[in-house]
Amino acid sequence: MKRGFLNSSKAKQQNEQSTSLPVTKAKLVSKLSHGVVPNAGKGQIPKGYESGFGTRKFFELNATSLDYDPDLYVCTAVPLVTMDAKLSDVPGGWAECVLSGHVKRMIHTTPGFPRRPLSPANGKKLYRIGEAGSKGLGMFATRLIRAGEIIIDERPMMVATASTNSIVSPDDMAKLSVEQIRQIGLREWGKFMKVVFDRMPPENQKAFMELANSHTQDGSDDITGRIRTNGVVTGFRDRNSSGAQGRYTAICKDISRINHSCRPNASWSWHTDSFSLRVCAVRDIRAGEEVTVAYCDALAPASERAEALVPYGIYDCNCGPSCSDPAGIRIGDKRRDRFRFEPVVVFAPHVPPKVGEAPDAWVKPALRRFRELEAEGLEGCNEYHRTAYQLINVYCFLQDVEKVKKYASKIKGVHRVIEKKEFPASFSSAEGIERSQYYQMSEMRKKAGIPEYEPILISFA
Ligand SMILES: [Zn+2]
Repeated sequence: MKRGFLNSSKAKQQNEQSTSLPVTKAKLVSKLSHGVVPNAGKGQIPKGYESGFGTRKFFELNATSLDYDPDLYVCTAVPLVTMDAKLSDVPGGWAECVLSGHVKRMIHTTPGFPRRPLSPANGKKLYRIGEAGSKGLGMFATRLIRAGEIIIDERPMMVATASTNSIVSPDDMAKLSVEQIRQIGLREWGKFMKVVFDRMPPENQKAFMELANSHTQDGSDDITGRIRTNGVVTGFRDRNSSGAQGRYTAICKDISRINHSCRPNASWSWHTDSFSLRVCAVRDIRAGEEVTVAYCDALAPASERAEALVPYGIYDCNCGPSCSDPAGIRIGDKRRDRFRFEPVVVFAPHVPPKVGEAPDAWVKPALRRFRELEAEGLEGCNEYHRTAYQLINVYCFLQDVEKVKKYASKIKGVHRVIEKKEFPASFSSAEGIERSQYYQMSEMRKKAGIPEYEPILISFA
């Protein structure tokens, strides 16, 4: 699944209780295998190893109850629907889920829940699902989609725990190999998820089974393999959990079709009030262009990205030179390192400009950073937004209205995605820009006869 796959908190407690299990082994168990696991499935599980599945109670007795034990898992529909509900009767549909009592209560008490997922402004789909070459199917824009626009807001078909629920006792843990414990965990998780799958309406079961599965030889079954291939992490988690533990993953009919790119033109976010996953454009997407998101941290070095993509069956991501070409990888990795660890902060100059130098020569580091971020296709990252904001403030200070407008138009869309609110309209008009803080600061200094480079520390970050 996209981002994070670890054991449950229950398994963790067992790990901690076990005195004979070496720490390194416990750590290894918490990562599931992918690729080809020899003798995967039954072959790895010792004969007579009994599953505790039947002893677990996670069938919901009263769907409207929010009083479940916070740590007990229940299978439930979100939002609640009647037993005979049809997908066509429920606007936005519903997700069949397995949730802890804590998470179920949290969802149902979220302000505004269950809001309807948002539709595109004109009610028309902005995309189609179609062939994407060696990647299988993908999502394609059917018209120009502007940065900041919502491409799709979709309620998942299924929400699953993003963890195996290992029932291996501390004693057994010490006796079994790491792979055996993983395989037992996978088998148990599979039984758990089969219950959720069986509750899904037939149309969704069919759509779910049509999704890609890159986990066919590692012990995952038809359901868990598809969860691992297509799930997107949600915004809620079990109580007392941290890191990748206690998380949940959403499997959607259309969003799960979106392919990966290390230079993505869209990003996704989870919304509990509408119980939906929302995908927004982070730069303009042309009609016919494929919509992509990053399955891994797009700011990580190429080798780390490549490793993170293997569980999705992506062995040779070639989304651009910084992914596939050795020279490009060197440049791309160096740039990403700086994007992550050396944020550019520009200060007003302390010395007069040299003769013949442009008045904005001191802004060069921020301009260069901005160009590099665009060259790497990383418009959706915070550093892009932050750098553009600095440039807007700098050019307000320099009273260069056209440049302010230029950078404002560049981050207007991505601001909506990152900040979840509209970009201040004032930066789009000369009057608004003249009223801005830095423009006014400059104006006051001019009136007082203070030159621009007078040594008063002004940071534009
Ligand atoms: Zn790539």
